[in-house]
Amino acid sequence: MIDYHIHTKISPDAEQALGDVVNKAREIGITHIAITDHYEFMDGVFYDRWKIRDLEKYGREIDEYNKKYTDIYIAKGIEIGHINRKKDEISKVLDTIEFDFIIDSAHFVDEVDPYYPEYYVGKTKEQAYYDYLREILGSIDYMDDRVSVIGHIGYAARYSPYEDYRLRYEDYKDVIDELLIKAVKRGIGIEINTSNFGRQRDEVMPPVSIIKRYRQLGGEIITIGSDAHRVNDIGKGFEVARQIALEAGFKYISIFKNLKEEKIPL
Ligand SMILES: [Zn+2]
Ligand SMILES: [Zn+2]
Repeated sequence: MIDYHIHTKISPDAEQALGDVVNKAREIGITHIAITDHYEFMDGVFYDRWKIRDLEKYGREIDEYNKKYTDIYIAKGIEIGHINRKKDEISKVLDTIEFDFIIDSAHFVDEVDPYYPEYYVGKTKEQAYYDYLREILGSIDYMDDRVSVIGHIGYAARYSPYEDYRLRYEDYKDVIDELLIKAVKRGIGIEINTSNFGRQRDEVMPPVSIIKRYRQLGGEIITIGSDAHRVNDIGKGFEVARQIALEAGFKYISIFKNLKEEKIPL
């Protein structure tokens, strides 16, 4: 089993200590995990907490666990909250230590987080989702060359107030194709994020239709991640995600070491 999106208490919205994450993962037979704590680039005091204060210490602690155990490899990852105008600042953070794996996530659309209801005020579902997808499309050109995967495509559909909240490929074909083609060309993968499992909106991000489309367009780099913020969510939904990947035509899942991709048979 693999889990390539896990937060520790370094992220303000998570509680688990790195040691507890590693123990839990080993206990349930996970051989590869990626620690991907948040690093947000929005300005303002609120977002100060959402930056990893001591990246060197962060890296060192992961190294120590890798030395200690041979039955698991812990990738030194990061989840970037992408802001186009912060491109240079993002690159500088990525220069600080040698990362294994980088997730680039759109946590903001025009610098508003779709997590908050204000994002949807006065917007139809189409507008809200188009704007969100265009934000990702627009961000691909600004992504650092080292980025491994685009995080949880469909994030806006997770929090939206619409009765029919689902994001379907068919409804946003033009922008989704454009963004997936761009990602394939740049060698950037997508993750299958299982964090919605067991919640009301019980589906993977991106939805299956988009995962299939990425494969059809030649995409070959996928990771699977629970986005766990609590120990009990580690490895959540891996088997379902694996099955979805197989049905979409993937034969391999990717892991990363020193930002180099390696393929493991699904
Ligand atoms: Zn995220
Ligand atoms: Zn996350």
